[in-house]
Amino acid sequence: MAKYVYLNSRFTKHSHAKIHIEDRGLQFADSVYEVIPIYNKKLIDTKFHLQRLRFSLSELDIEYKVNDKQLIDIFCKLINTNNIKNGIIYLQITRGVQQRSHVYKNNLKPTVIIYSQSKSFNIPDKNFKGVEVITHEDLRWSRADLKTVNLLPNILAENLAHKKNKYTAILIKNNKITEGAHSNIWIIKKNKIFTHPVNNDILKGVTRTVLKLIIKKMGFIFKENSFTKEQLYKADEVFLTSSGSFITPILKIDSKTINSGEIGDITLKLATLYFKSIKNEKA
Ligand code: PLP
Repeated sequence: MAKYVYLNSRFTKHSHAKIHIEDRGLQFADSVYEVIPIYNKKLIDTKFHLQRLRFSLSELDIEYKVNDKQLIDIFCKLINTNNIKNGIIYLQITRGVQQRSHVYKNNLKPTVIIYSQSKSFNIPDKNFKGVEVITHEDLRWSRADLKTVNLLPNILAENLAHKKNKYTAILIKNNKITEGAHSNIWIIKKNKIFTHPVNNDILKGVTRTVLKLIIKKMGFIFKENSFTKEQLYKADEVFLTSSGSFITPILKIDSKTINSGEIGDITLKLATLYFKSIKNEKA
């Protein structure tokens, strides 16, 4: 466990970090978060993560004044102090503390929690692995575009997958695939790449944004179209993207095997290009 965390303007030992019982993040999930990957001691795509953080905060009307540079300094201090080579920065901002009431007061002082965790990533080398997943009804609220800690439907779907020894769950709403419990989902059919369009039904993943730039640069045929469970089952290749899983091939969905259970050529190519972009990231 990493030794130091940042809580409300102070660095403190992990075991000493405590929050108030009437924190609105605890009582109402009145709170946003971000997960920023660290690879080789470098923060990855921080700019996009902080943009999305500002969007989530402003949609929830939470006022948080600390600027990006100050945040990045905190992240770097945690990486160095806790000696993290590969892992994540977890950042959560709640609306703050007040006596329990559905109505929030203006000008509460947000609670800010930032810590680091070590983790290994699925990278396209000789150990690159594909995963098996289940599908599950998407039971989330209709602002899935906000990165809030309102994650109970994701948690329940994910745990059902884990009970079946599967990596994660793919969520389905009105017979359309929206996204994964903690990832965006992509299919490839006849050399064309598809993923769900950006709207209130999905989180605009940072990995998705970066991969989209790579796909366009490489000239692949790419469409932001939603697709059905049947189209998912019949895809030539399927993969997921997220800050924690990078690009991870999906080889089996429910009882349907994809691409004979092999990692597809286009998925491997995209994972390789994405990984190259990470390695080239400036410190
Ligand atoms: N969709 C959901 C529901 C997520 O929770 C996540 C990441 O946690 C993603 C998509 C992928 O987003 P990102 O690539 O920014 O990690």
